[in-house]
Amino acid sequence: MSWFMAEFDCPTHGRFESLLPRAEAAYTSSHGCPSCGVASARVLSAPKVGTVWGAAASHAKSNAPHENPAVLNTQPLADGMRYSDWKKKRREFRAEERRKEIKRELG
Ligand SMILES: [Zn+2]
Repeated sequence: MSWFMAEFDCPTHGRFESLLPRAEAAYTSSHGCPSCGVASARVLSAPKVGTVWGAAASHAKSNAPHENPAVLNTQPLADGMRYSDWKKKRREFRAEERRKEIKRELG
């Protein structure tokens, strides 16, 4: 028999989890609270997905924006900057980075 973890919400004791036989899990809408035995309504729980996307989705936010200016940033385009201006800025940024690198190499 396989099992399914379902979450329920007791009006007094709050949320708790309970293992249900997978075959019955789809039809189970309430379960007795382990503390008081009161029938508690089933609630939907966010999946605990082991990926960056899953973690971001279950926390309902995306990653903080990158501070590193070398990381490609398309935010100005979304804010309405013209593509040609954006490309020009990228070109200037890379040229400046090259100049710095050459300076470093030459000591
Ligand atoms: Zn309870």
